[in-house]
Amino acid sequence: MNIRGIRRFSLVDFPGKMACVVFVGDCNFRCAYCHNPCLVFDPESQPLISEDEFFGFLEKRRGKLDGVVISGGEPTLQKNLLPFVKKIKAMDFLVKLDTNGSLPEKVFAIHNEAGLDALGIDYKAPLDKYNEIACSPIPELGRKVLDLIKFALVNNIPLDVRTTVHKALLSEDDLIKMRSELSAVGLKQWTLQQFNNSGDIIDDSLLEKETWTDRELLAVVEKLPDTNVRGLNGIIIR
Ligand code: SF4
Repeated sequence: MNIRGIRRFSLVDFPGKMACVVFVGDCNFRCAYCHNPCLVFDPESQPLISEDEFFGFLEKRRGKLDGVVISGGEPTLQKNLLPFVKKIKAMDFLVKLDTNGSLPEKVFAIHNEAGLDALGIDYKAPLDKYNEIACSPIPELGRKVLDLIKFALVNNIPLDVRTTVHKALLSEDDLIKMRSELSAVGLKQWTLQQFNNSGDIIDDSLLEKETWTDRELLAVVEKLPDTNVRGLNGIIIR
């Protein structure tokens, strides 16, 4: 596993659980608002954390943490993801996988063999502009993500489906379309995440462009069923 960072403690990344977060390098998307450009373009710029080091850390967290969030970058690109998940589960920690959903078959296999305890899935755009927003040529991309959401629902895997919103990327019409696409596969709870207008991102021209205010976004979600807004501190504000 190409582990390039660990958040040792989090109350917001694994809903209802105390968790650590493992960040792996590499991604097959290039989202303009991505706050981990170094993990996407140049993971080697961050110190490599060996699996031995990680599992040594986890051993000391027995009884203190409920679980591990595997995030990135895009974890499903990692060749050793399945044995890594199995080893964490064998230590009696829960596992939440955060994924962009581009490789649903990998997630199906991992769940079927190791049992995932939660999934965090980014639903990035309406189907007709999915490749544009993800900056990825993968065919049928939005459909793949919806397939993964359906899989989680059918298998009762607790699910956090979220979308980062910036006005220059997603309009109100886009959000309405996305709500309807998600409802069509049976998803109820959907969370819109405010764009974090600070730090290093892939396309820093976004920092200069007008984006949604909390008030505007809250007015949009008033019209959408089962939709929340998560503020910049990770807390749901509606
Ligand atoms: S935000 Fe996009 S580019 Fe960044 S890690 Fe996630 S999927 Fe990859």
